[in-house]
Amino acid sequence: MARVIVNRHGVEAVRRGHPWIFRSAVGHASPRYPDARIVAIVSEQDEIVGCGVSDPDSPIAVRVWGTSSAVRLDASLFSARLTRAIALRGELFADGATTAYRLLNGEGDRTPGFVIDRYGDVAVLRIDGEAARALAPTLLQDVEPILRRAGIATLLERTSKRTDSGEPKSVTVRFGTEPANVRVTEHGVPFVVDLMRGQKTGAFLDQRENRRRVGELVARRRRAGLGIRVLNLFSYTGGFSQRAALAGGIVTSVDVAAKAHGTAQASFKLAGIDLTPHSFVSADAFAWLAEQKRKDKQWDVVISDPPSFAPSERAKPNAISAYRALHRACAEVLAPGGTLVAASCSSHVSAEDFLTTLDDIALGRSDLRLLDLHGPPPDHPTLPSFPEGRYLKLVFLA
Ligand code: SAH
Repeated sequence: MARVIVNRHGVEAVRRGHPWIFRSAVGHASPRYPDARIVAIVSEQDEIVGCGVSDPDSPIAVRVWGTSSAVRLDASLFSARLTRAIALRGELFADGATTAYRLLNGEGDRTPGFVIDRYGDVAVLRIDGEAARALAPTLLQDVEPILRRAGIATLLERTSKRTDSGEPKSVTVRFGTEPANVRVTEHGVPFVVDLMRGQKTGAFLDQRENRRRVGELVARRRRAGLGIRVLNLFSYTGGFSQRAALAGGIVTSVDVAAKAHGTAQASFKLAGIDLTPHSFVSADAFAWLAEQKRKDKQWDVVISDPPSFAPSERAKPNAISAYRALHRACAEVLAPGGTLVAASCSSHVSAEDFLTTLDDIALGRSDLRLLDLHGPPPDHPTLPSFPEGRYLKLVFLA
């Protein structure tokens, strides 16, 4: 079997359960393979400490699948992990009120590089990294019957490569038939997803519990007779907007992607919401916010859920500055007594880093308190040793 020899820092990381071995932890004496391989991970003392998938072209030299010499990385290991992942979701979503959720969360379910989201009876597979893609035919051999038993009739695969036509993603059918617009529910609330063209695997399932929380916040404010003007920045297909509107809020949704508003409006209608009091603005959030400030416009709840600002560790200082500027602009249109809901999905920005972008200097006001800080929901499990997996942060400030 192919072997990768790792230094003692690498061995330590593997034992703690960190799923990545960086190239810097691979010893010079380690054999080099030109292609992706299933490898034994070996210490400098020649002891087998685990197994994984090596990638000759990635800074992540090995993705770790097992931490003992007894584990064999093959289709049956993948199937066992997938089966366990499905069992957890069966437990989490037993009441049937939520039909869209993450079935398999890559590293967090100890299947590094393999993510599966479920939208009713359609599942969407995403494979991260060339090495995982190369080994997929071996590892995924028995996946179809397992998914079919779990009620999945169609499996799509999204690849993250850009296509020639400029469409950012391409989708292929692995089994079943290409779906039209798919209808799913979250806590009983119906919405539409465009699986063939949407972002991520179709919707941002990681914000499900936060969408519910925003709905509850607006409902509480309404009962208390407080203002219920809601601004949802980076609204995409209107998940937060829809929950806020259902709770009685008057919602302004802002996104540069005009097409996303179409899907948002379809979801509003599906949930029986009258579109009349709500507005959908296609604009750059930063420029639009500056204009609203000049006009002295205010909202009682301001939600900000931008795309990742930090694609790499190097981009972190710029990302922090961008969050500070964005949060200042949000605070400037937040009415007195209002709530700011701010999110970050940058894995290189930790929760504590993110909170620094919401301090009194950043916001230019000193009346807000941190009420809540939320991470990813349980269908997006993470590993304690792997902070990179906890990319999602969302705070409520009031
Ligand atoms: N809150 C959404 C997910 C947001 S994803 C949900 O719960 O589903 C980020 C969104 O930001 C994308 O829809 C993208 O089109 C939008 N976006 C990116 N840059 C933007 C900008 N400068 N101004 C407004 N929207 C932007």
